[in-house]
Amino acid sequence: MRCLICHAGTDCFVDAALEIESYCCPHCGTIFKDPQIHQTFSLQKQRYDLHENDPSDEGYRHYFQHFLDWVLPQVGGSGSALDFGCGSSTLLADMLTGKGWESTAYDPIYHPEKGYRNTVYDLITVVEVFEHLHDPDATFGMLVGLLKKEGYLAIRTEFVPGSTEVYLHWYYRQDPTHVVFFSPGAFDCLCARWGCIYVADNSKNMLLVRKVLSGTK
Ligand SMILES: [Zn+2]
Repeated sequence: MRCLICHAGTDCFVDAALEIESYCCPHCGTIFKDPQIHQTFSLQKQRYDLHENDPSDEGYRHYFQHFLDWVLPQVGGSGSALDFGCGSSTLLADMLTGKGWESTAYDPIYHPEKGYRNTVYDLITVVEVFEHLHDPDATFGMLVGLLKKEGYLAIRTEFVPGSTEVYLHWYYRQDPTHVVFFSPGAFDCLCARWGCIYVADNSKNMLLVRKVLSGTK
């Protein structure tokens, strides 16, 4: 099996607790589950419907505030923003609006209007989305195509542990809709392929990249 991110050869290992095979890339550090276990759209929706994303929940608001406190000082100013894969709530986009950003939210299940594709953005936020993607390389490229030159992509996903031994005890892999797990090196590969520079990460679960090449728009 070739790596979903860098296309190098991978090492197969068995995740006995989940009763599946998974793959680890020795080149970029990505770990991904056997694509044969990918769930259908309707099965994924059943899982997502269980998420408690209540905009009035202070913990949920604090979670996004923590993300914005890390991202926005590095981005500076304001402009147009897209929250891609927002889930059932548009809270993060609403919080960006409150900070002076002209914001749009999109989610393939809960906010499926495709109008977000008709413009380009200064900032795209992608929170707890990448670990769900069946083709993260293509999605990364699509999102870069929606950025203005010099625009930023701010991603939150838990970085994969450095060894398969630790991975096999990691809670984050247990969600059946979580199918791919990234290291900073994996995002380095994506940046090189799609004309971005890797700006920074917090060594845990947040990273920021910036588009340096002009897209087709
Ligand atoms: Zn790889």
